[in-house]
Amino acid sequence: MMRYWGVDFIRCVECKHHPLQLVVIETEEQDVDTTGLEFPICRNYCAYLNKPVVKGEQYPCDKCLRVGIKTGVLYCPSCGRWYPIKNGIVYLLPDKKRKAESDLKFLETYRDKLPSHVVYEGKPFNLSKTSGG
Ligand SMILES: [Zn+2]
Ligand SMILES: [Zn+2]
Repeated sequence: MMRYWGVDFIRCVECKHHPLQLVVIETEEQDVDTTGLEFPICRNYCAYLNKPVVKGEQYPCDKCLRVGIKTGVLYCPSCGRWYPIKNGIVYLLPDKKRKAESDLKFLETYRDKLPSHVVYEGKPFNLSKTSGG
């Protein structure tokens, strides 16, 4: 299951940008054994707070570990690509391995819950390209 802390180490597969913006649609809390873990869990970027990790500050690592992202999107602010999170799995695929049909279906399903720059301008597929394109 994708969790907030995943954003800390995921890069855009096309342009290598980090961090990606997490758009959360559906979450599911899970029990996680945190014994022996070093805090903060997020080393560079905490997606739960949407800010870079600064040494000496307190972070809601509990949330980053336990809150699973069941449905959502990872958006790359650098190249405009979006990556779907379905059933807790991030599909971080390069453009050539993506399928327009399932990506467009995903956007259709969640168009009201996603920012318009993802739905209508996101790469490699979006809902504005209904004709031609
Ligand atoms: Zn965090
Ligand atoms: Zn990118």
